[in-house]
Amino acid sequence: MGGKSRPLRSKIGDSMNVPFLDLAAQHRPLKAEILSQWESILDSASFVGGESVELFEKDFAKFCGTDHCVSVNSGTDALRFIFIALGLRPGDEVITVPNTFIATTESISQAGGTPVFVDIDPKTYTLNPDTIEEHITPKTRGIVPVHLYGQIADMDPILAIAQKHGLWVVEDACQAHGASYNGKKAGAIGRAAAFSFYPGKNLGACGEAGAVTTNDAALATKIRLLRDHGQSEKYHHEIEGYNGRCDALQAAVLRVKLSYIDQWNALRRGNAALYEDRLKDLREIALPFTAKQRLHVFHLFVICVENRDFVTRALKEKGVTAGLHYPTPLHLQKAYSKMELRAGSFPAAEYSARHCLSLPMYPELGVDRIDYTCACLKEAISTYGN
Ligand SMILES: *Cc1c(COP(=O)(O)O)cnc(C)c1O
Repeated sequence: MGGKSRPLRSKIGDSMNVPFLDLAAQHRPLKAEILSQWESILDSASFVGGESVELFEKDFAKFCGTDHCVSVNSGTDALRFIFIALGLRPGDEVITVPNTFIATTESISQAGGTPVFVDIDPKTYTLNPDTIEEHITPKTRGIVPVHLYGQIADMDPILAIAQKHGLWVVEDACQAHGASYNGKKAGAIGRAAAFSFYPGKNLGACGEAGAVTTNDAALATKIRLLRDHGQSEKYHHEIEGYNGRCDALQAAVLRVKLSYIDQWNALRRGNAALYEDRLKDLREIALPFTAKQRLHVFHLFVICVENRDFVTRALKEKGVTAGLHYPTPLHLQKAYSKMELRAGSFPAAEYSARHCLSLPMYPELGVDRIDYTCACLKEAISTYGN
């Protein structure tokens, strides 16, 4: 990838429409392949479980390098089932970050535990290992690093702290399909990992789906029970469970798309390199930072910029849709007001919430839309305050 270095256009040429996501472009070349899979499922009338689900689980476990993959109905279910299977009890504390999607903490609470926030590393936006130990109490059971924006958290020190204190580590890998850390894939590093296949993720279904990966056979078995009403076989309920299965149509489309994910992730990295090349001289912008020994898969391309809201509106006026991930950290959400954590509690997470801006990022984006976006961004920054 890389691309030749081109000077940023000083004048913006013809206006363009740059959507934040373009899933239709991803599906167009795969349409025949997906429809033929769906047609055979329609004919078989086997919509829940069955061969396509089993084959996808095998393929996804192989892709991550784990012994087991248990497909479920969403990334949120994947997280919740892991925490329930690990035996979280009321009062148990689980350490995680405030700059994530609420599913990370909802699932901890819904499994009976209490989320405890720690701050992030201001460069990678992932859990800062240096802040963990001061938050460990006798009630702490585990740590949940979130591999935010497509980059794996700094797992070696996190695992070392966990081992020292007898804690488990669960990866929230919902944004990191195919990312790696010291050669290990997301999903294969902690005790278990949760993936989301929500349509806009790097590997996305045409509806809701998720998966748990793990090398722990007993945990995988427990999660298989939990996703299917606790059934070991039809109408034999070992435990009370949930309706949390992945359906056959989603598994089939995921299996088709899985064969393209490495190629798509490479295109995302190529697009990131183009953005970096075009924006590297703008001192008003903090570009994404990829730490050593990590393969970033750029689920999102997030910059930090002053006057973020002005810049977002200016881009919108030019036809470029940017995103915000995430504008309010969880500890300042109404849902967590009972924690009584004030603004200022987690400075790095709060800084990122105020300044982060997600530029359009998808494999099909391409150089013209990147050039246009960068030109609009440059113009927005230079006009602020004039
Ligand atoms: C998408 C996402 C989830 C939730 O996944 P769903 O499939 O939407 O339930 C959890 N955590 C993170 C970090 C996510 O990005």
